[in-house]
Amino acid sequence: MVSAAPATDHLRNGEPVIGVLALQGSFPLHIASLERCGARTRRVRKPADLEGLSGLVIPGGESTTMENLALRCGLFEALGKAGRDGLPIFGTCAGAILLGKGTERPERLELVDVEVHRNAYGRQVDSFSDDLLLTPFDSPFHGVFIRAPIIKDPCESLDCEILGKHDGRPVLLRSGQILMATFHPELTRDLRIHKLFLQICGLEPTETPGETGCSQVREKSY
Ligand code: GLN
Repeated sequence: MVSAAPATDHLRNGEPVIGVLALQGSFPLHIASLERCGARTRRVRKPADLEGLSGLVIPGGESTTMENLALRCGLFEALGKAGRDGLPIFGTCAGAILLGKGTERPERLELVDVEVHRNAYGRQVDSFSDDLLLTPFDSPFHGVFIRAPIIKDPCESLDCEILGKHDGRPVLLRSGQILMATFHPELTRDLRIHKLFLQICGLEPTETPGETGCSQVREKSY
């Protein structure tokens, strides 16, 4: 495995490591996607696992279950502190719910100043996929939305940059070092969003052949 090359001089102990919250949900596929981009990864299950990370992915899954498990072991508080201390974090779907704000369960990390509404498209049968035009890329990205949340448009917020919308609603958003997507890029073979996140982490992703949807690199099975 070739490691993602550091673009900046921010390594702490040798090679950079990207953590993936591994309590529940789609974490194995994020690990596979990040490793296809050349990143070293670590499963994060307790506060000590956050030590020395260059970035963290909070996957999709069930936000209330992740909240519950993270609260029990002190990880919820540690995640909030890590984010406030500037750790780059990429949250997808349930991960985006946890990163944002909201009055209903789950408890939120409130690292991004936007309201995120759970299950806002409806039930499982209302899940869908569609091609998305995302500003960082010059060709469409296939977005898979599974019981997806809706991000309330942060309109006048200076802190948030909307990187893509679907039906007028923000679906990919950046706020400082934090990236949130209401869809699941790890369910496609398109690595562009994972690469974008590695760049936010100050890393230069390794090129993989056929990077937009037809990589020849073998994926790990879990
Ligand atoms: N509906 C889930 C939740 O509320 C999120 C779904 C997903 O991550 N695909 O946590």
